[in-house]
Order: sequence, then C-alpha cells, then structure tokens
Amino acid sequence: MIKKNNSKNENKHFASQSELKIIKSEHMGMCFGVRDAIKLVNRVANERPLTVLGELVHNSTVLNTLSNRGVKFANKPEDVMTETVMITAHGTSNQTRRSVMQQGLQMQDATCPLVHYAHKQIHKLIENGCHPVIIGRNGHVEVLGLTDDLVEYDVVLNEQDIDKINFHKRFGVIAQTTQPISHVQALVKYLKSRFPKSKVRFVDTVCQPTKQRQRAAEELAMKSDVVLVIGGLNSNNSKELAKTCAKFCANVYHIQSPDDIQITWLDTAKKLGITAGTSTPNEHY
Ligand code: SF4
Repeated sequence: MIKKNNSKNENKHFASQSELKIIKSEHMGMCFGVRDAIKLVNRVANERPLTVLGELVHNSTVLNTLSNRGVKFANKPEDVMTETVMITAHGTSNQTRRSVMQQGLQMQDATCPLVHYAHKQIHKLIENGCHPVIIGRNGHVEVLGLTDDLVEYDVVLNEQDIDKINFHKRFGVIAQTTQPISHVQALVKYLKSRFPKSKVRFVDTVCQPTKQRQRAAEELAMKSDVVLVIGGLNSNNSKELAKTCAKFCANVYHIQSPDDIQITWLDTAKKLGITAGTSTPNEHY
C-alpha cells in the first residue's frame, strides 16, 4: 500500500520507519449490504442494460469500474434511459418507487435489509402518534429515502439542530444507519432533557457493521501513532470513522487511495493503524 520510490528524501523517511508496525482494525471495510448490492449490479448488467439510481456506493473506484463496463447512473427516474433500473443499498422512498413503476421500468432492489428496518421503524413510530426525528445528515441519500414520504419530520445532527425543533407531546427517534451509536445516544439524551414533558421513544437503527467498525476504530486509534482511514471522501461512514479515531489519536488522515499518502505523516510513527469504510473494496488495504 505504501509505495517506495527512488528519491533520496523518500528513502530517508523510510529508513527511519524500519520499525513501523502496521495494525489493521479488527472490523473494517466493505459491509454485506454494499457487497450484495455490487453483486446484484454485476449480475443484472451481465444480462441487460442497467441504470443505477443514485450513487451505488460512495467510492469512485467502484463507480468507475461499473461505468467502464457500461452501467449507467441517473439521479432521477425521469433520466433513466434503460428498461431496468436499480435502487441502491441506501434505499429510497415509496414516492420514487411509484415513479419508477409509473414509467414502466423494471426495478431491481438492492436496498440493504438494515435500511428497510429503519424505514419500517419510522413508519411504526408515526402510526403510534410520534413526531418523527431522524438523527443523521440532512440531504444524505439514505436520509432522503427515509424522509421523502413523510409530511412532517426533523433531521438533526447535533444539539444546535435539536434546539431548533418545536415541542411535540411524543417524539419517535431513529438514526441514519451509519451514525456512531454513542453520538446518537447522546443526542437522544439531549432531546429528552430539552423536552422533559414529552415522551421520547428511540429505536436503535444504527447497523451492526457500523457499530463493529466504530468500536474497532476506537481500539485501533488508542494504540496507534497515526491512523489512515481509507474510503471515499463523500462516504458518511468513512468520515465518521475518521472523527471517532481523531478522539483517540492526534494524527488521523482520511484518504481515498495510496496516492494520497504523504510519507512525512509517518516520520516519527512507530505504529500505523489502518481502517476502512463500509464502501471500500478489500483490494484497497
Ligand atoms: S452500512 Fe449498514 S445499513 Fe448501510 S449497507 Fe452496510 S450494512 Fe447495510
């Protein structure tokens, strides 16, 4: 992964790193939801022309490979030019599904079962009279899929967002699947303290692969001098991994590929920790 070259400077750096120990996170890299989605896109693309609705994964290498083999990408059902369209692992709203059907397109659905679970839970909470609150990143494709069918809702990412929401007798809270669970729990606590007279019901929809990777990233960062987080710069879970590692290690770098590594980062490091987001292919680490 770290490439040596013949420049004197580079060799000088590597000479001082002869003792560098590389530690890989216990849980890292591609999750089953993304792996299954990529498998499905490859299988369908072998049979017929296919358009993927939105970004299949937040990873440019994977997207370029699919694009090179003829897979098309579109942001809206109206822009789809093939007969078959695929919903990504991030899921989508019923509105979008209806629009796909109305256009007579054949739909392949790669929505991760754990995203389906989040959809079911938010609708159950609403049926039970709760005002829906989603802890997540406003505008993220998974969050849009969750909120597009809702009439009234709040999306919050921090305490300042919670300060802006109005009183409701009952709140029903879920989270974007890739949010760190400790952050989610802290915000649920804050919501309860802000509205002591309200009933707050929280359903934990953070997915297990995210929890495992977050927990393992904490342990990794505690024992590393430098941590590299490998993943798309627009990947939410990779960003969250970098944020978590930064709490325990002063030298954390979020990179997309080995070319992003600056060898000076490792000048005095003895232990280099490596982790990767859920959309990062195994070949990258
Ligand atoms: S990150 Fe979690 S919810 Fe998202 S695709 Fe992977 S397993 Fe599913």
